Amino acid sequence: MARIVMKFGGTSVADLNRIHNVARHVKREVDAGHEVAVVVSAMSGKTNELVGWVENMPKVAGSNAPFYDAREYDAVVASGEQVTSGLLAIALQSMGINARSWQGWQLPIKTDNAHGAARILDIDGADIIRRMGEGQVAVVAGFQGLGPDNRLATLGRGGSDTSAVAIAAAVRADRCDIYTDVDGVYTTDPRIEPKARRLKKIAFEEMLEMASLGAKVLQVRSVELAMVHKVRTFVRSSFEDPDAPGMGDLMNPPGTLICDEDEIVEQEVVTGIAYAKDEAQISLRRLADRPGVSAAIFGPLAEAHINVDMIVQNISEDGSKTDMTFTVPSGDVDKALKVLGENKETIGYDVIQSESGLVKVSVIGIGMRSHAGVAASAFRALADKGINIKAITTSEIKISILIDGPYAELAVRTLHSVYGLDKS
Ligand code: ASP
Ligand code: MG
Repeated sequence: MARIVMKFGGTSVADLNRIHNVARHVKREVDAGHEVAVVVSAMSGKTNELVGWVENMPKVAGSNAPFYDAREYDAVVASGEQVTSGLLAIALQSMGINARSWQGWQLPIKTDNAHGAARILDIDGADIIRRMGEGQVAVVAGFQGLGPDNRLATLGRGGSDTSAVAIAAAVRADRCDIYTDVDGVYTTDPRIEPKARRLKKIAFEEMLEMASLGAKVLQVRSVELAMVHKVRTFVRSSFEDPDAPGMGDLMNPPGTLICDEDEIVEQEVVTGIAYAKDEAQISLRRLADRPGVSAAIFGPLAEAHINVDMIVQNISEDGSKTDMTFTVPSGDVDKALKVLGENKETIGYDVIQSESGLVKVSVIGIGMRSHAGVAASAFRALADKGINIKAITTSEIKISILIDGPYAELAVRTLHSVYGLDKS
C-alpha cells in the first residue's frame, strides 16, 4: 500500500466527461488499496475568464486607475478550483468512493499575505492522513489557501502544481502524480523537434532549469518545493485509458519521474534543450568603469520589478570605459528603457541600444559538472549552421545562448542532435 497525491490540470478536467475519466484514474488507485488525496485545477480556460472579468470591470467615468483589490481578485479567481473539486467529489461518490471536497481555507493551507502570488507557509498533514486512514479521498481545490488576514489567497498562475507538491510533502506521500495533457517531460519541445524523446527520469535540479527556461510542464515553484522536500513527482497523462495495462504500476507508471539525482543510474551528460521566446537585449555603451555602476543600473530596474536575466559586462581596455549588455522579457523593454533614461545621470552611460524578438536556447544536464567540452560542442554546432550568438551565460548544469528569434527552431534541433538526444 502506498500514499499517493494525484493532481489533475485544467485540460484533464475541462468538461464533465473528462472529470468522469479523472474519477476513474482515482478509482484505480483506491481499488488497489492506496491512500489517495487529489488536487484539482480549474476547468481549462476558466481562470483566464475569471481574471478577465476582474480586469475588465468598467471604470467610473474620469478614472483611469487600473487598480483592483488583490483580495477580491483572489475571491473571484479561486472560484474555478472550487467548482472542479465539488464536481470531482460528486463523480467519485457516484462510483461508490468515499470522497469529500476541500477548499484551501477549510484544510487550511496557510499562506503568506501576497494576494495573487501567495506562498504556502504551512499545511497540517495530520488531518488529511487521518481521513485517508478512514478511507476517505480528499479532493482539494488547488491554487488557493488562507492568508494571515483570514482571506482566500491564490498562489500565482499554474499554482495548483505547487498545491499538490506541498500536500504531498505534508502527508509524506510516496508519490505525487501530476496528470496533464502530455505524457511526460521530453528532451525538448516535440512540436519543434519530432525526434524529442520522453525522459524516464529527470533530476530535480534539471527540471528546475527546464521549467525556468521555458518548458511549461510544471510551475517552477512546485519543482523547487519538490526538490526541497524530496517529493518523487511523476508527470503523466490523464488522457490515457485509466485501466490500460501498467497504468497502476506502483514503481514505474508511464510518465517521467522527477527525482533525486542519486536515483538516476545512467546519467546522460545533457538531459534536455529548453528555449524561452520573447527575450530582449539592452546595451549601455561607454559606461564609466568604476565601483557602483552595476548597482546604479540594476537597482532601479529591480525596484521597477523588471526581471533581468543574462548580464554581460565587457572589460575595458584602458580601465576607463565599459559596455554592459543584459536581457529582459520583451514585454518589459519600454519600461526598462524609461527607468534607465530617468537614471542616465547617476548611471553615466553614453548611448543605450535595445533589440527585441530574441530567443534564449539552453542546454541542460547535471552530467556537465563532470564533463568538459559541452559548451564548445554547442558553439561549434551553431556556428556550422551560421547561427550568430549574441550572449552566453552558464551555470554548473546549463549553458544558455541568446540568438535571433528566427533561428530558434533550427538552434533547438541542432543542439538536440549534437548531444545525441534524438537517439535513445
Ligand atoms: N487554475 C490556475 C491557473 O490557471 C491554477 C492552475 O491551473 O494551476 O493558473
Ligand atoms: Mg495548470
